Amino acid sequence: MLDANLKAQLKSYLERVTQPIEIVASLDDGAKSQEMLELLKEVASLSTQITLLDNGDDARKPSFSINRPGADISLRFAGIPMGHEFTSLVLALLQVGGHPSKASVEVIEQIRSLKGQFSFETYFSLSCQNCPDVVQALNLMAVLNPNIHHVAIDGALFQAEVDDRKVMAVPSIYLNGEIFGQGRMGLEEILAKIDISGAERQAEKISAKEAFDVLIVGGGPAGASAAIYAARKGIRTGVAAERFGGQVLDTMAIENFISVQETEGPKLASALEEHVKQYDVDIMNLQRATALIPAKNVGELHEVRFESGASLKTRALILATGARWREMGVPGSNNTRPKACASARTATAHYSRASVWR
Ligand SMILES: Cc1cc2nc3c(=O)[nH]c(=O)nc-3n(C[C@H](O)[C@H](O)[C@H](O)COP(=O)(O)OP(=O)(O)OC[C@H]3O[C@@H](n4cnc5c(N)ncnc54)[C@H](O)[C@@H]3O)c2cc1C
Repeated sequence: MLDANLKAQLKSYLERVTQPIEIVASLDDGAKSQEMLELLKEVASLSTQITLLDNGDDARKPSFSINRPGADISLRFAGIPMGHEFTSLVLALLQVGGHPSKASVEVIEQIRSLKGQFSFETYFSLSCQNCPDVVQALNLMAVLNPNIHHVAIDGALFQAEVDDRKVMAVPSIYLNGEIFGQGRMGLEEILAKIDISGAERQAEKISAKEAFDVLIVGGGPAGASAAIYAARKGIRTGVAAERFGGQVLDTMAIENFISVQETEGPKLASALEEHVKQYDVDIMNLQRATALIPAKNVGELHEVRFESGASLKTRALILATGARWREMGVPGSNNTRPKACASARTATAHYSRASVWR
């Protein structure tokens, strides 16, 4: 299944694995099970750290778990993670195999200290460009905390479930059997949604910050540019954004960013973030502003209040809140997630994928 080039690349990635990995496949007599087994055999042949067993008894077939012997990791792929999900498979192998993730120390600590039971299921399609972010975030959480379980399910292979749950778009995420979210979600966004006390602590930290010289509300290209210009002047600069990166996160093809012939939206968004981080800018992500209390007199401070309960003071304020999707407001419509699936282009792709399943 893997061509020579991909095998060579995967082999070199797997050299970073420092701890043994056990893959346990749950199979039936179908052709897809054989296909999955063939892929897993090829993967296992590329590293002496990987053991492949084919005696799994999970209800979803074909599926496979990836574990570290002696560890309690609940991470499973139901289906064959090729296409856009191949990267998720590689990352899962590396992280289960002890290779550290790039998440910040604070985020890793927050995941490790989560209490309670979190059983996530994510429906993806192999052609979905927004799905790997979700799958990879939840896989990492499952690697770090034994209370977190994650199954990534290829909807095309588990049609009955898709129909039962009326999954109309991907990624669709369920937590403990209930719908949790739809569309692209990053690690920090997922965490903020399940770790309420963490979000409260974060809000307290934000409120305790000293006043900014310039506070920018909005972390899209406009907000990022404003932050860079301000910080280059050596003034105390902060960016508070509901979703750092803004609308570019919702598109894969950008071909009119002068001097860059083509790029992908999420790549551009992470380049924006890297660029802003080159300067002394305080980025406060996942903060939705709900109120602005302007200074009454010259020399006084403006105040911005956030949904999280946080508030910030600033001498100058730049609003760069861009645009958002107009929501239909029709009960049952996918209006909760303008961040990915409601994008005209991606929604078309995903809904047509859903209709392929039917
Ligand atoms: C599917 C799609 C494809 C596109 N393709 C292209 C393309 O190929 N080429 C091109 O040039 N442009 C394209 N665009 C348009 C481009 O993305 C926008 O023009 C650009 O992102 C605008 O930048 P901005 O910073 O002004 O606003 P946005 O990107 O909208 O960013 C707004 C920021 O403000 C934040 N925000 C909003 N409200 C609040 C609040 N209340 N509190 C806190 N934060 C808030 C948001 O979370 C975000 O961080 C595309 C857009 C979409 C959706």
